[in-house]
Amino acid sequence: MIIGNWKCNGSNEMIVSWCADYDRELNGNDAYVAVAPPSIYFSKFNSENKLSNIVGWGAQDVDHLDGSRTGAISVDMLVDTECGFSIIGHSERRQIFNEDNSLIREKLKSLNKRIMTILCIGEAKEENDKGITKDVLKDQLEIVNGLELDTEFTVAYEPVWAIGSGLTPEPKDINEIHKYIKDVVQSNSENNLSPKVLYGGSVTDKNAESFFKEEFVDGALIGGASLDGSTYAKIVNIFNGIDK
Ligand code: PEP
Repeated sequence: MIIGNWKCNGSNEMIVSWCADYDRELNGNDAYVAVAPPSIYFSKFNSENKLSNIVGWGAQDVDHLDGSRTGAISVDMLVDTECGFSIIGHSERRQIFNEDNSLIREKLKSLNKRIMTILCIGEAKEENDKGITKDVLKDQLEIVNGLELDTEFTVAYEPVWAIGSGLTPEPKDINEIHKYIKDVVQSNSENNLSPKVLYGGSVTDKNAESFFKEEFVDGALIGGASLDGSTYAKIVNIFNGIDK
């Protein structure tokens, strides 16, 4: 699974050229590959207006309630579209919008079994330096405790210090963390689900292969490199070339 998070980027013109570049570079595809554009552009990707062979699209975040919540988009609204997933818990939502684990758990509960959830977790640089990465991730994963999770529930491991920095952990360390995440979710969810785990943080067409080769890396969540259709297709081609 490869997911591109466009964050607050995009325009009508950018989407047209992105789609043309993506389709030109892609060598066919068997995987679930999607982008999360700003929600105002969702209709550019639906089956009526589809500009590209990209498989799907989804939301960068969602609100767990509806009604008097200016600016919010609810799960029911996502269900009304062809939205394939919603990301929740991105470190930018945690830092800039002060979202905490209890709010993110509410979002997970409202999406669960309705729209595929991609839960982002990751440690800060100081936490990594102190050697407490697993403790931090375990704490963030507490939100799954006691929930019967949808079988499509997915985690994205995104070390905060790797996002947009050009820095990444070593592939073997990512692999070990992904195994740990699968084990923690399996032990704590009601239905003992072992989720797919994506890696996110400075993935490019130059380093993607080193991550995808690792046993417990089920794909990637990509920020900056997903904004160029041709680079994104190159990463998808690399993923498809590895027997998963
Ligand atoms: C992200 O913000 O989810 C991300 C992975 O960003 P980048 O690929 O730019 O590091």
